[in-house]
Amino acid sequence: MTTACYSHEASSGHVTPPGHPERVERMQAVAEGLAGLELDRREAPLAEEAEVLRCHPASYLARIKAGLPEEGWSQLDGDTFLSPGSLEAALRAVGGTCAAVDLVLSGGAGNAFVGCRPPGHHAEQDVAMGFCLFGSVSIAAKRALEEHGLSRVAIVDFDVHHGNGTQALMWDEPRVLFASSHQMPLYPGTGAAEERGAHGQIVNVPLRAGSAGAVMRAAYEDVILPRIDAFRPELILISAGFDAHADDPLAGLNWTAQDFAWLTGRICDLAAAHCGGRVVSTLEGGYDLPALAASVAAHVGVLKERSA
Ligand SMILES: [Zn+2]
Repeated sequence: MTTACYSHEASSGHVTPPGHPERVERMQAVAEGLAGLELDRREAPLAEEAEVLRCHPASYLARIKAGLPEEGWSQLDGDTFLSPGSLEAALRAVGGTCAAVDLVLSGGAGNAFVGCRPPGHHAEQDVAMGFCLFGSVSIAAKRALEEHGLSRVAIVDFDVHHGNGTQALMWDEPRVLFASSHQMPLYPGTGAAEERGAHGQIVNVPLRAGSAGAVMRAAYEDVILPRIDAFRPELILISAGFDAHADDPLAGLNWTAQDFAWLTGRICDLAAAHCGGRVVSTLEGGYDLPALAASVAAHVGVLKERSA
């Protein structure tokens, strides 16, 4: 078995205005991070619209389509933009994540990484925000439940920002455990430990600005990993944002590439214990390009080691 890696050149067709941190160049950094790894490389397919509708109303999809500019940009919120290629890019981010779930659940790969953009974990049912259009990881979780008949899917979100969109989309879904670590206070402002979901299946672990990997490791060992263990997931999805890295310009945590490797290994430990190692990881944030490349290399390197 190997690690599958989904990407598509359409990810570079989602163009943000000059100076925007969520930029096309991130894809080059991801490619550099993956360059030394032997992976089963695949093109991210275009998601069908019905896939998006698992988590978003048709009126929202229609609004995104209507908002696509013929050239330049249109603006959805203070920091979320559309360019002419944004819809295809976002549909391939969804499609790649869903295809990775299908492949891993069918035994075609041990685990998978989806290196597409735009990210998705801030998108709520009918609100684009935080650079995100569609909730890719939530849609993939729903697909695993509804098309593959799974009963328990865990989503681990280690992006430095709280995954408010995933939390909103999964709030009333008892078959999904959503666990997030994030800096607080920080954008988007949600993610307090008291936010637990309609069925107590949401686990929020806020971390203080300036804290380093040791604090993260303790938080996972004490809180998040035991909850995942007790949940006995049949599949683990990861919202893999790398903006908790010390060099990231958008936040103030001090993780290293080795911290991402450690955390990936611990998630893989639980996947090995409960679900045959089945992990699908999808890219969220990470805005310092060298740190993003190094962190992706560390993260996917561990996935590769553990897919054997
Ligand atoms: Zn982030």
